[in-house]
Amino acid sequence: MFDVDKIREDFPILKQKVRGKQNLVYFDNAATTQKPLSVINSIVDYYTEINSNVHRGVHYLSGLATDEFEKSRQKVKEFINAQSTQEIIFTRGTTESINLVANAFSKTFLSKNDQVIITEMEHHSNIVPWQIARDEFGFTLKYVSFDEKGVLNQEELFSMINENTKLVALTHISNTLGTINPIKEIIDFCHKKNVKVLIDGAQGIAHTQVDVQKLDCDFYCFSGHKIYAPMGVGVMYGKKELLENMAVYQGGGEMIKEVTMEKTTFNELPYKYEAGTPSVADVIGLKYALDYVDKIGMKDIISYEDYLMEYTTEQLQKIKDIRIIGQSKEKSSCISFLLGNIHHLDVGTLLDMQGIAIRTGHHCAEPVMQHFHIEGTDRVSFSFYNTKQEVDIFIKGLLKAQSMLM
Ligand code: PMP
Repeated sequence: MFDVDKIREDFPILKQKVRGKQNLVYFDNAATTQKPLSVINSIVDYYTEINSNVHRGVHYLSGLATDEFEKSRQKVKEFINAQSTQEIIFTRGTTESINLVANAFSKTFLSKNDQVIITEMEHHSNIVPWQIARDEFGFTLKYVSFDEKGVLNQEELFSMINENTKLVALTHISNTLGTINPIKEIIDFCHKKNVKVLIDGAQGIAHTQVDVQKLDCDFYCFSGHKIYAPMGVGVMYGKKELLENMAVYQGGGEMIKEVTMEKTTFNELPYKYEAGTPSVADVIGLKYALDYVDKIGMKDIISYEDYLMEYTTEQLQKIKDIRIIGQSKEKSSCISFLLGNIHHLDVGTLLDMQGIAIRTGHHCAEPVMQHFHIEGTDRVSFSFYNTKQEVDIFIKGLLKAQSMLM
């Protein structure tokens, strides 16, 4: 399919030894992915050669920086197949993208009798902004539940939608359960009822082929750092017509057309939503990351990561007392589990001592933990640079941890 050993050469961090001893096994990709050399070099090159503030400058460097910055917007447009670069808003990440929509959409379109629906499997960043907006604008916030396997109760969602429902906001892939939600079906149903849909694509962007026109979603939010780009950059995709009619979010430089002491008129899209100096190097790095992903090919990435996930699941299921949290048939890239009554933190710590990086805790999805009456889980999450050998090391390490803790 592709040469994983060759790919690993592009990720210098993977070569290091943890505490100078153990080879690093990095299985925390749902939290953040590692960066290929092309991305790292693009940041060095930016600061070495063209660092300058974008858009307003007449001088040479500012022109170069602006060109590179806008090339990245063009790349994102192509990567998610948006209709126009005006629909690509650069933010700091998924969290800021959702906060932007929760604030501006609510301010413009929602009032007391309206209803917004989210799900019980959301990351906190697709819960808290809606709670804050609910408290400010007075609409009702409803939650759709999921079943014991971690599958969203779609019928419940459909029956919840009524003439007051204005927006459904849900995750493409759960960062805790791994569930891939049937977002296309949900979007189609919602649109028939005149309901807008926001997709939290923090996980979806790196593990599915996202085509916003095919999906027909109204908003798609993601973070660069989950798809091999630097931290500090994200995207809020929104349909142009919606964004044109939506209120502004943050005020400041760049988002204005004219400012007098009495009032301000606002800039056109996408700048209307990009107040202040952006993280230019990181935005440029995002282009290199998406180029890298395109070079490998999303289709092959998906098949390979599915293979790793299935192989790991099989191996985990052989372990006595393992409990896998999240067993949807439609699942991607991460596995949450518990090992008997052993605290998830103890498992994570003992694995860490063997150089194996996994994530432990509630994964910023406390309602998921409340659903299962647990405090947290251990979670392994994959990337295309992981290998079957690493899975074997992890399983061996887990058995060692189990023998020490039981
Ligand atoms: N939603 C989901 C599903 C996530 O996995 C994450 C990150 N763990 C976020 C939102 C938030 O992303 P960020 O912290 O990059 O804004």
